[in-house]
Amino acid sequence: MPEAGRPVHDHDAGEGLVSVEDARERVLAQARPLTPIELPLTDGFGCVVAADVHSPIDLPRFASSAMDGFAVRAADVADAAPSRPGELKLVGRALIGQRPQATVGSGEAMRIATGAPIPGGADAIVPIENAEVLDDELVRVFEAPSAGRHVRPQGEDVAEGDLLVPAGKRLGAPELGLLANAGVPHPLVHPRPRVVVLSTGDELVPPTTSPSFGQVHDANAFTLFAALREVGATPIMAGIVRDDVDQLRDTVLSYEIQADAFISSGGVSVGERDVVKAAFFQRGDVSFYKVAMQPGMPQGFGTIEGKPFFGLPGNPVSVFVSFEVFVRPAILKMMGRSRLGRPEVTATLTEEIRGPRGKLQYARVEVVRGADGWVATPTGGRGSNLISTVARANGLAMIPVGTEAADEGSSVRVMLFRSSED
Ligand code: AMP
Ligand code: MG
Repeated sequence: MPEAGRPVHDHDAGEGLVSVEDARERVLAQARPLTPIELPLTDGFGCVVAADVHSPIDLPRFASSAMDGFAVRAADVADAAPSRPGELKLVGRALIGQRPQATVGSGEAMRIATGAPIPGGADAIVPIENAEVLDDELVRVFEAPSAGRHVRPQGEDVAEGDLLVPAGKRLGAPELGLLANAGVPHPLVHPRPRVVVLSTGDELVPPTTSPSFGQVHDANAFTLFAALREVGATPIMAGIVRDDVDQLRDTVLSYEIQADAFISSGGVSVGERDVVKAAFFQRGDVSFYKVAMQPGMPQGFGTIEGKPFFGLPGNPVSVFVSFEVFVRPAILKMMGRSRLGRPEVTATLTEEIRGPRGKLQYARVEVVRGADGWVATPTGGRGSNLISTVARANGLAMIPVGTEAADEGSSVRVMLFRSSED
């Protein structure tokens, strides 16, 4: 437990910048996979399985017929042909969903429906079109089926004890179907993190309120809501909190029981009203960094009552980028996922991107796949901090530290945050 009254750690000695990699490492060190719980299949969809799941039964569970027809003993009709049909005595009917009424003895046959269990004694199915019933008592068989013909064997798909879903695998449509089929209704999974989202700022109003002069619609809560949903977490919208230390602390702590993590935006920069800093050095273990990145430089990371806390800057573009760079990988880790990064491509720039030499710049770009590979076009003017530049983009081009400009025609690494069709 953090000590009460523990001071804010300010990691900004000297130059004062922490590299993106270091900052991400610190964030990830605080994020641990959530304790696994057994969830119903529909709730477990998209979650990562926490332990190998083995099949409690054979699949299929019983041998069944693949055709409508007659269950026979193959040896009884080994010489049957259209010119010399085999004749068998009908001894009943095998219905789907029921135990067969009888067994098939030598010289006997039983009517059977597709999916019905194979009666004892029978080992092959003669389809209805290769047979003829006489007086409801005898059946003439015009073919000689091999043993096992049109029989779906027990355990053909999965044998009891086989591995159904390995630990670490995410439950998608095929896994849900397989587990349901095998009668595993509550797999043990890492649950979806419940993440409290709150926006700080005296100037903020919800998008449903028309702003008076100087007021700003809260954009960040909605960016974060969607980003959390997209990654598979469950957002808890805590609303707008004034730039008031007590109100912020009370609001965050009031959500503590239901939350697995917290994200605030705003109030972490070096200003008079840096409420996040002021609120959390007492109850949590939150450190404030200046990260060598643009946008998104000031960040507060840590834990509150042991749960990850992300204090993002207020600028809406910074919020989006910070989520991608820090929060998303941490949430994925909490969900038990092993691949924490977005897919990346190398793309050719159609225009120069200029940036600060000492920082890793995340430039919003639209990436398309051309005939000669990926091509990236910046969606905003130089150094743009405008939210519309994000909305027009599908990738973040990473202009490394030490580079002042990436020239037109040069290659850049781009992380893709949505497919170009979206
Ligand atoms: P701050 O980090 O609190 O100093 O905020 C930086 C800038 O982002 C200011 O111009 C704020 O008005 C703006 N801002 C902060 N929070 C939000 C928000 N939730 N939605 C839109 N803009 C915001
Ligand atoms: Mg603010």
